[in-house]
Amino acid sequence: MVLKILDGEIVIASHNKGKIIEFSDLFKDYKLKLSSSADYNIQEPEENGSSFADNALIKAKATMLGSGKISISDDSGLCIDCLNGEPGIHSARWAGPNKDFSAAMEKINEKIFEMNPENTNAHFFCALAAVWPNGEYKIYEGAVHGSLRFPPQGNLGFGYDPIFIPTGFDISFGEMEPLKKHSMSHRAVAFNKLKSELLHE
Ligand code: IMP
Repeated sequence: MVLKILDGEIVIASHNKGKIIEFSDLFKDYKLKLSSSADYNIQEPEENGSSFADNALIKAKATMLGSGKISISDDSGLCIDCLNGEPGIHSARWAGPNKDFSAAMEKINEKIFEMNPENTNAHFFCALAAVWPNGEYKIYEGAVHGSLRFPPQGNLGFGYDPIFIPTGFDISFGEMEPLKKHSMSHRAVAFNKLKSELLHE
C-alpha cells in the first residue's frame, strides 16, 4: 500500500510551541486539520532512543495511540562538531527541567571556550516520523549547517537559535525572519522529503 496524507486530521506529537508554529507554516498550503498532542492531553513519552529517528518514532507512536489519528513528530537537536555531535539527541535535556536555553547556550560557550577549537561548526538535525493508525510508519531526515557565535543574538526563534549562524548568512536563526528560517531549517529539509512522498497524489 502506498501511504499518503491527502485530507483529514494530523496530530503533531509535540508540546513545543516553537515547533508547532513552524509546522503550521510548513502545512499552510494543505487542506489538513492540524492539532497537537496537547489538544488530546497526551503526555510526552520518555525519549530513550539512541538516535533522532528512534525518538521521533517513540513520540509519534505515543501520539497516534493516544489520538487514534495519523501523527507526525519531529526529533531534532543541535550537533556541534568539536563536541563530538553533542548535545545532539540530548539538546532538550541540556536545558534542564525548566527548559532554560540561556543556561544551555552558556554551557556550550564554556565548553567550547575551554577547548579553543579550530572552528565552531555545527548543524541542526531533524528526523520526522509519520505514524498511521495501523502502525505503519515513515521517517524523513534533514539538516542545516552553520557555525556558532556568542553571545546569543535575537529573540525571534526558540531553543538554540540565537547562537546558530546558518552557512551563507551573517545573522543567527534568532535574528532571522521566521518565515525565512522555516523555509530553510532542518525541519523544512526533512519536511520537503515528506511532502513530495506523502502530501501529493
Ligand atoms: P526535542 O526534539 O523536542 O527532543 O528537542 C529538541 C531540542 O533541540 C529543542 O528543545 C531545541 O532546544 C533544540 N532545537 C531543535 N530544533 C531547533 C531549532 O530549529 N532551533 C533551535 N533549537 C532547536
